[in-house]
Amino acid sequence: MTQPEMHIDRKLAKDDLILITGAGGFIGGALARYFHDLGYTRIRAVDRKPLAEWYQRVPGVECLSMDLSEKENAIRAVEATVEVYNLAADMGGMGFIERFRVECLRSVLINTHMIESAWKAGARRYFFASSACAYNTTLQQDPHVRALKESDAYPAMAERGYGWEKLVSEMFCQEYWAERGLKTFIARFHNVYGPLGTWDGGREKAPAAICRKVIEAKASGQHTIDIWGDGTQTRSFMYIDDCVKGINMLAHCTDLIATPINLGSSELISINDLVSLAESIGGVKLKRTHDLDAPKGVAGRNSDNTFIKQVLGWEPNTPLRVGLAKTYRWIESQYRDRKAGKHTVKDIY
Ligand code: NAD
Repeated sequence: MTQPEMHIDRKLAKDDLILITGAGGFIGGALARYFHDLGYTRIRAVDRKPLAEWYQRVPGVECLSMDLSEKENAIRAVEATVEVYNLAADMGGMGFIERFRVECLRSVLINTHMIESAWKAGARRYFFASSACAYNTTLQQDPHVRALKESDAYPAMAERGYGWEKLVSEMFCQEYWAERGLKTFIARFHNVYGPLGTWDGGREKAPAAICRKVIEAKASGQHTIDIWGDGTQTRSFMYIDDCVKGINMLAHCTDLIATPINLGSSELISINDLVSLAESIGGVKLKRTHDLDAPKGVAGRNSDNTFIKQVLGWEPNTPLRVGLAKTYRWIESQYRDRKAGKHTVKDIY
């Protein structure tokens, strides 16, 4: 194994090649759009989905359809890249990660091949999308949560499957820095939502699922909604624009090399109140039923933003009401388009 030449750190030039994996999905697609709009001219986007199924394709961005759990594809993907953003993972909301733990665990192959290939290719920075599911679940058994701070991942008792994969991949990032000098950056996302995200099909998360159910209830005239769990479970939700802005900021902050950091909103809400918010946006009041056997995840989870405010002087700050209204309107238009037989964002598993 040969050590790549150490790179002198310099500012990312507008024509440096940036690689974004998982770019056919929600956050990766939005990140490609974000860097493109900032004026970066060489972006490579990779996802295993066929190009026709990508949630968005950004003009001028090189788009490749490849399975990055295969070593040869990871090597090809990183060729000549200066910065790598690894957002590819087999994931979804609670309905997916509680049922498909093997698929979630197998995402470890993606990061394992990506980080090794990036290091060998001499990439200057490597970003990994971790998750709040990496946190110790025993700290999340009460809806009146104490917000999770970065040190709460250990002693480890992560979400089975998905959360453990994130923890192990975080460790890869830390050790590639410690032993091999690759500058790695690790964000623990707390529930991200917004337009151009999964909204139907089984992988969608609570905000999109609830908006869709409200829209469906209105359209069908039945005016009922089925809620997973008793609805007292609490979460915070980060709007997509805050997410991509935060990724860019933290991946270029030298204080954060190999240091996991929360990237999430600290605006806590119960699922019942999230339903009320979606109802008020939709201008409707629905009769509620609760499916107590449905997957519901931990009882409560919030992001402690002390650290991010300290290092970046910023935290995700789009009010949920504002972000959810935009998301609701977008899902409404998707719903209409699907009814009209037009192409929509969809993910099948
Ligand atoms: P997403 O499902 O929309 O996007 C992930 C993409 O990765 C998909 O398009 C999928 O096709 C692709 N992918 C999966 N396996 C692949 C493989 N073997 N090779 C190439 N591509 C592959 O999910 P997202 O919400 O955009 O999540 C992006 C990242 O952020 C993931 O790592 C996820 O675990 C993490 N994350 C997301 C959230 C959230 O709320 N959305 C929360 C915490 C962490």
